[in-house]
Amino acid sequence: MRNYISYSTRNIQELNQFSKIGTKRLKEIEVVSSVLPFKTNNYVADNLIDWDNIPDDPIYTLTFPRKEMLSNNHFAQLESLVQKGVTKEAISSMVNKIRTELNPHPAKQKHNIPTIDGIRLTGVQHKYRETTLFFPSQGQTCHAYCTFCFRWPQFVGFDEIKFAMKETDLLVKYLKIHPEVTDVLFTGGDPMIMKTKILETYILPLLSSELPNIQTIRIGTKALSYWPYRFLTDSDADELLILFEKIIQSGKNLAIMAHFNHPMELSTTQVVDAIRRIRSTGAQIRTQSPILKYINDSPQVWAELWRKQVNHNCIPYYMFVARDTGAQDFFSVPLVEAWNIFRMAYQSVSGVCRTVRGPSMSSTPGKIQVLGVSEIKNEKVLTMRFLQGRNPDWVARPFFAKYDDRAIWLDELKPAFDQEKFFFEEELENIFNEHISDAENDIYE
Ligand SMILES: *Cc1c(COP(=O)(O)O)cnc(C)c1O
Ligand code: SF4
Repeated sequence: MRNYISYSTRNIQELNQFSKIGTKRLKEIEVVSSVLPFKTNNYVADNLIDWDNIPDDPIYTLTFPRKEMLSNNHFAQLESLVQKGVTKEAISSMVNKIRTELNPHPAKQKHNIPTIDGIRLTGVQHKYRETTLFFPSQGQTCHAYCTFCFRWPQFVGFDEIKFAMKETDLLVKYLKIHPEVTDVLFTGGDPMIMKTKILETYILPLLSSELPNIQTIRIGTKALSYWPYRFLTDSDADELLILFEKIIQSGKNLAIMAHFNHPMELSTTQVVDAIRRIRSTGAQIRTQSPILKYINDSPQVWAELWRKQVNHNCIPYYMFVARDTGAQDFFSVPLVEAWNIFRMAYQSVSGVCRTVRGPSMSSTPGKIQVLGVSEIKNEKVLTMRFLQGRNPDWVARPFFAKYDDRAIWLDELKPAFDQEKFFFEEELENIFNEHISDAENDIYE
């Protein structure tokens, strides 16, 4: 099958496997998807989901909303409105209220938006010195939606500041006056949703000889998992691969940052062929995923995921901790457990898989890796370090938090050894205070 068909609540009854879902679950999907966006497609449904194993099947869980993804309270409130048959407006005001309570802007993303000549580059985030994130305005959707995704404010039309920008001009201007930037990371949504012609308009200007500082172009995507035909049989798939070749020929590194959550996504001939085609252009494929309860919370699954990736010439890169937003209560794995899963998986694979780093939290001060549980002078602690920091000097300095096997995020951890603050906290506060006065408060949320 090559023609892309997407499914949402609007046309779910046309899904081949519709009868397997059942009326009770269908109702739940309807209620939950009013808050968390729902979209799947024919490739995912026909190739990745074992329909005899729903709702436990990992890829079903990955793309189909279910009751437990909202709190009991939120679900009951919404369900009763739906049952009463109240107006659309009444439902949407409840939906907005719930979304606000789900922390749609974790890790103070709004702080990372740069300005140039007084214009805010709303499609750009620049948090770590070497790497600029770029959110092309036409890449803000995906071939299917992950139920855990923290990007959901961008898809549901709720966000006023859509991290999106119409033109590359400003980005190029910005990169010219920021020679410290070596990497541009295209992200979304999924940039691979864009037609090659549009993607070209964004990428080709970055290959200009006026930007010698740009050495790596990265594209974050889940298309290998959700729609491998993007690289195989879509009408402009060949042009896409030619674009990749152009990037390589310009002397820059092209890294496809592929998002794989479960080994099942690497098991079809389509994905294997797509990987092969991408690799034949000279591009690298690096892989990343959050650790998610019900989807991949076991060492065996991770070990298999990394081994499969390496067998297909992909480079394992990051294991993330699920962010504190959206359906996080459902998916969250405590930090200590995440480390145990990481450790056991890491111990069971050979060195070629150990390019992966994690578990890592993308938090306000930076990407923080949980190195593990240690005992120092009779005190049990969590040893951590920055993989990326708002201040690059924070990176690779081990620091310690009080042991807490229930904590799922940085803000629940306390410094060890009766210290009042973590070593970076005061500086972080100063960074934010400067920001506020710079922008006259308008970017402070
Ligand atoms: C993860 C991330 C990057 C990329 O970091 P690398 O460690 O170079 O992969 C850049 N910007 C932000 C905001 C990020 O979260
Ligand atoms: S593909 Fe990426 S951006 Fe899209 S829903 Fe999944 S995690 Fe979010």
